Amino acid sequence: MKEVSTSGIGMTSARTRARMVERLRAAGVQDPIVLAAMNAVPRHIFVDEAIASRAYEDSALPIGSGQTISAPYTVARMVELLRAGKKLGKVLEVGTGCGYQATVLSRIAREVYSVERIGQLLEKTRARLWPLKIRNLRLKHTDGSLGLPEAAPYDGIIVAAAATSIPPALLDQLAPGGRLVIPVGVQEQQLVVVERHEEGFTETVMEPARFVPLLEDMA
Ligand code: SAH
Repeated sequence: MKEVSTSGIGMTSARTRARMVERLRAAGVQDPIVLAAMNAVPRHIFVDEAIASRAYEDSALPIGSGQTISAPYTVARMVELLRAGKKLGKVLEVGTGCGYQATVLSRIAREVYSVERIGQLLEKTRARLWPLKIRNLRLKHTDGSLGLPEAAPYDGIIVAAAATSIPPALLDQLAPGGRLVIPVGVQEQQLVVVERHEEGFTETVMEPARFVPLLEDMA
């Protein structure tokens, strides 16, 4: 990723980001690779300038089109579960949003595909990511509940919106040994990890979660 100039002072500085990483560690995120990526990506450039000073708080923030950027802990925790301490090859993210998590993933996985159903939001994100020149990230405007068959199978699939049930297409597109991290549920959501084995899948329910809904079809 190309370095972008960031205002080196105040609430958007590297020091503020380092403090965010310390809080993530204190909250239980252990994977050093994930913590390093969270430390490297300037989260404040993914939100509007008016709220950039809040970018390192542990909260979700509005990103337009009625959507939110996930809280730092949520991103770190999900990516930690996706990695499970192993190197990641090809990864699919469903729900690009502002592109923050996709950028974090691009530092951890060899190849990242990220899909978003809201065209207008994706265009804004494309423009934001362009100056970062991230070579291993591909974005696509499509309904991610169908996965992205053209680049399947994936070693990891991470879903940033809550599904009412696990979309079968995502299971189909998981490589053997691959992992799917997805929030599931309507009123009460749980973070679920599905692992694909040579024969079949194992499903582990992790912790409560709160995400915007995974909607079918495009906008
Ligand atoms: N990873 C994002 C979080 C975005 S919030 C970030 O770092 O900011 C979840 C996103 O999922 C929203 O932008 C929403 O539009 C998108 N989404 C919901 N259903 C979808 C679907 N079926 N396919 C693709 N994207 C979807």
